[in-house]
Amino acid sequence: MNRNRSIISTVCVLFAALVLAGCYQPVDYPVIVDVPPPPSVTVPLEHHYIVGTSIENRPIICTVLGEGQDVTFILAAIHGSEPAGIPLVHRLVRYLQQHPQLLQGRKVVLLPVANPNGVAHNTRSNARGVDLNRNFSTANRLNSKRFGRTALSEPEARVIDRLIRQYTPDRIVSIHQPLACIDYDGPALALASRMAQHCNLPLIELGPKPGSLGSYAGVTLRIPTITLELPYIADRLNSERLWQRYGPALIAAVVYPDRVR
Ligand SMILES: [Zn+2]
Repeated sequence: MNRNRSIISTVCVLFAALVLAGCYQPVDYPVIVDVPPPPSVTVPLEHHYIVGTSIENRPIICTVLGEGQDVTFILAAIHGSEPAGIPLVHRLVRYLQQHPQLLQGRKVVLLPVANPNGVAHNTRSNARGVDLNRNFSTANRLNSKRFGRTALSEPEARVIDRLIRQYTPDRIVSIHQPLACIDYDGPALALASRMAQHCNLPLIELGPKPGSLGSYAGVTLRIPTITLELPYIADRLNSERLWQRYGPALIAAVVYPDRVR
């Protein structure tokens, strides 16, 4: 018993000596919001969750920032071989965390990787060879092996459809490559023009494609829908260069119809 007591007191003395010598530091857990907001701005609600899974059981992760009534839905990589939008969306999340005043009265729903199988395999389609951006329920839809035997036959397209129904966004931005333009569907000319003022991409209306997100959300649901087509070389740019070139256009979409100050 005496021996145990002497071991315990030795350990206590050693620990106290370490603390006094500054060798022991309490663990510092990482803080999500790294820049404190101004005192008048409350930190916006933020959550990340798995909104569904792909054919190969990869998680599809959604991030929601803010809790306002005005909703912007931004997604990237619905075509897996067009990955440049992924770091851009992650960078946008960081920017909004650092500038919470932009989220007052707003909510931003973000899906950085809409087609995780396609990204993993560097393919346009999902693991079943279906082009997800042709799998929505539209008047111009074509049923086929490549576009899906029925509308919303693919779980990844169902996730996007579910998010649109759940959050009823005021505008949608889907990031693609490599056509280097700002395309739009539905009542989105003014939004597309505003975004074009904030980057070097021309405004071009490519026209609704069969079963595309633009045809579904823009033409059928009348939600202003932007297809932000980054150039081919965009996935060779690091995230800071991408952000410098295209971040301002994304911010312009988030705060629309207000202007960035
Ligand atoms: Zn595409």
